[in-house]
Amino acid sequence: MNTISDVRNLFPILNQKVNGKPLIYFDNAATSQKPKQVIEAIENYYSQYNSNIHRGAHYLANLATEAYEHSRQVIAQYLNAETQEINFVRGTTEGINLVAQTYGKANVKAGDEIIVSAMEHHSNIVPWQMLCEEKGATLKVVPIFDSGDLDMEAYEKLLSAKTKIVAVTYISNALGTVNPVQEIIAKAHEVGAVVLVDAAQAVQHKKIDVKALDVDFLAFSGHKVFGPTGIGILYGKRELLEAMPPYMGGGEMIDNVTFEKTTFNKIPYKFEAGTPHIEGGIVLGKAIEFVQEIGLDFIAEKEAELLHYGTQKLSAIDGLRFVGTAQEKCSVISFLVKDIHPYDIGTLLDKQGIAIRTGHHCCQPLMKRLQIEGTCRASFAFYNTAEEIDVFAKALEKSIAMLS
Ligand code: PLP
Repeated sequence: MNTISDVRNLFPILNQKVNGKPLIYFDNAATSQKPKQVIEAIENYYSQYNSNIHRGAHYLANLATEAYEHSRQVIAQYLNAETQEINFVRGTTEGINLVAQTYGKANVKAGDEIIVSAMEHHSNIVPWQMLCEEKGATLKVVPIFDSGDLDMEAYEKLLSAKTKIVAVTYISNALGTVNPVQEIIAKAHEVGAVVLVDAAQAVQHKKIDVKALDVDFLAFSGHKVFGPTGIGILYGKRELLEAMPPYMGGGEMIDNVTFEKTTFNKIPYKFEAGTPHIEGGIVLGKAIEFVQEIGLDFIAEKEAELLHYGTQKLSAIDGLRFVGTAQEKCSVISFLVKDIHPYDIGTLLDKQGIAIRTGHHCCQPLMKRLQIEGTCRASFAFYNTAEEIDVFAKALEKSIAMLS
């Protein structure tokens, strides 16, 4: 396998026309498309073994429970974690909120500090801001250079005994910057802080080994890694998860309930109250197996080629400037053209069958730092091609001519 047409045939959605033109999907950082294996796994679940899990003593309940728990093992192995360190959540956003509302509430007090970076997605800012407000703690922000690289010297200066949590994205969805998370984690540990890595833009591109990184918490969303929406993972170190209070109360997360007192289930079930997204959990495991079959090396190689080619191609366009030129980038190209509003470019490209993202990309503070309102963002996956980039560049030039 692994010729580009073999790869593209795995994704039925790619084979269609939009506005009379072959679809070119360059909005992969927002959500990835789904391969046949994933789509079939969803159908198989509902047509063959749909059942509630962990509770029933019947055949279907056992099948569904086994599949759900097998998926947890697949994901644990993928991240080099222990199985009970893998918590199913709705996505990155819920994973971060869970940590803020449990670990954060239990460990952050007035006068403490939480550090985020200037390039964070709102979901890695707002939960910490809410916690800081509640506790009287302070949110500190690591600045970035104009290139979109993190200012690591400034980061080190911000760290102190007051720092309780450092929450940082592995890869910026708006700029494509790949942050030096290993170093960020090591430095935070020197002052006794724990680190949460937002891996929403990382798991689909990079091998992640939570033990080698020594990361305390790591969150990602299934839909960005070729799996379903509404499911994601929060990894946490076992000793931290065990010491944390529960998040939501309800079925499944309990050990024993009386009106006087409730005792809680062991991890990871302590953090999985209620009937979970069973199909999502099972199919996320299938999506991860799919990534393993394709191979992260193959994915990284293809995406690096697309990033290089796309950057070269767009640099030839008059009046275009890149937003985000960090030393290490993943396959995201953010740009602006003259003083044309990104939305206008996005709309004209859509008319030509090309899907890109425009706007602030849920990073308003980053846009403020860069003194812009938003960008056009083309984000590539391994199933995109250089030919698509050629068509995109031509369509972009045509759109610019119409808007100038
Ligand atoms: N963090 C980053 C870097 C993201 O790109 C996103 C989604 O775009 C999120 C967090 C939030 O992910 P979700 O909406 O799937 O919870």
